[in-house]
Amino acid sequence: MTRSVSKAGALVFSSLTLRVVKVSRRLLDAMVLTQAKTLFASIDLSGFGASRRLPHCISPKKICTAPKVLTASATDKAKIERTQSVNQRLAIVSDLDGCLLNKEDYSFAPAVPLLQAIRDLNLPVILASSKTVSEMRLLAEEMELADAPIICENGGAVYWSREDSRPGQILGASRKQILEILQKLKGEFHFESFEDLGLPGVIASTDLPEDRARLAMQRASTEPLLWRDSDGKLDFFASQLAAEDLTFTRGGRFWHVAGQTSKGNAMQYVMSYLQTKNPGDWTSIAIGDSPIDQSMLDIADYPIGIPSPDGVVHVEVKAHNGLLADSAGAQGWADSVTAVLQELGANL
Ligand SMILES: [Mg+2]
Repeated sequence: MTRSVSKAGALVFSSLTLRVVKVSRRLLDAMVLTQAKTLFASIDLSGFGASRRLPHCISPKKICTAPKVLTASATDKAKIERTQSVNQRLAIVSDLDGCLLNKEDYSFAPAVPLLQAIRDLNLPVILASSKTVSEMRLLAEEMELADAPIICENGGAVYWSREDSRPGQILGASRKQILEILQKLKGEFHFESFEDLGLPGVIASTDLPEDRARLAMQRASTEPLLWRDSDGKLDFFASQLAAEDLTFTRGGRFWHVAGQTSKGNAMQYVMSYLQTKNPGDWTSIAIGDSPIDQSMLDIADYPIGIPSPDGVVHVEVKAHNGLLADSAGAQGWADSVTAVLQELGANL
């Protein structure tokens, strides 16, 4: 009798517990959804850079997924197992826009779990972008990648980890040198560079909010410009810059004047630095989606090409170990980097 009463009591208790859990779960889902909506609402989709507020912790997929809770010891054990599973002299060098950052919403949410796993593996992820160091530092912090060097302004400058107080290394020409040469060409060609536009002009032509525009203007080794002359004079202008050892390449809205460097050049510089820090044979994975990333893909042991959202691939992956991602943006980044790391023995 006692046993049956206890059994019935247990059933009632279980049923009540189940209801409480269901209600709590609904409340939790509603709270998370509200938080997610607030975060998504704060994303500024205008502008030309990608240094906006990022919904890095929230993705629609994640909202309804209960987090997997690990105890400290289980987390440590998983970390140790991962660390032991892969060569510790392995560096991942990645472009941002269209790769680790989605082109449409600037989110890197699909790559967040893999970035955590890479941190567990103690592997450096070196961001390589056209952005300035001020813009990239913000992103590196948000992605928790501030412990690695960063390649800025398309390889024009390399900056060190957050803890490393050394000044950045200019690899091409300095912005000061570029501005002096542009000044000499002003009589012959019509253009407006960031220097000419000033803060109001940069805000107007990029749609960036003022604080972001300020960061975009803090340049070290490149100068974007708006071409105000005839297209027929572009080649002559480029040849005049080439005579001064400068390059002239088209971005989206802007043309970019830079020294003789590239993302690949900067990647080699960073790999040499890592080699000095931790002598031995280093392996590299490079990820890119546009021709400006090709120089990195050409020298990487494991190059990965990411297609644009419309499915078009703008890079060549020549190496035997190369890979073309199936998806665009951060999802393609996560899938393809996972595949390469697993190929290299990583326990993910
Ligand atoms: Mg890109």
